[in-house]
Amino acid sequence: MRDEKCIFCKIANGEIPSNTIFEDEEFRAILDLAPATKGHALILPKNHFENLFELPEEIAAKAMVLAKRLACEMKDRLDCDGFNIMQNNGEIAGQTVFHFHMHLIPRYKDDGQTIEWDKREAGPEELESVRKQITGC
Ligand code: AMP
Ligand code: ZN
Repeated sequence: MRDEKCIFCKIANGEIPSNTIFEDEEFRAILDLAPATKGHALILPKNHFENLFELPEEIAAKAMVLAKRLACEMKDRLDCDGFNIMQNNGEIAGQTVFHFHMHLIPRYKDDGQTIEWDKREAGPEELESVRKQITGC
């Protein structure tokens, strides 16, 4: 379940050193090399899954529980004012490393970061049409 060419496989399995903040049999959480804010960390499964679409539900569930646990610990220890959890899938969505990972980003007053998108307008007909497309009914 590993990809020999994948840098996150090597990091997650300890072949490349990292600033590890958590490790168990299935996951390693490391500090991001180019942090958005102090404490920006990444949760990596030890097995290789390219993105959310490839991730087994069981690992997805465990990753979310781990994200919650680490976010609570980091909030206490870093005394941050808020927290973003981000997860990019596909190049168009900003994914640059194609091994599933979750970003844990502590937020501080005046940290100078923004995580935003342009808000478009959508009328009730458009929303209903999209709802139908997603649900199929
Ligand atoms: P994404 O753009 O969602 O794929 O996020 C990839 C993240 O991995 C970026 O925030 C990078 O700064 C981070 N990153 C890339 N290589 C390393 C590395 N060797 N160690 C730690 N973080 C890394
Ligand atoms: Zn990998």
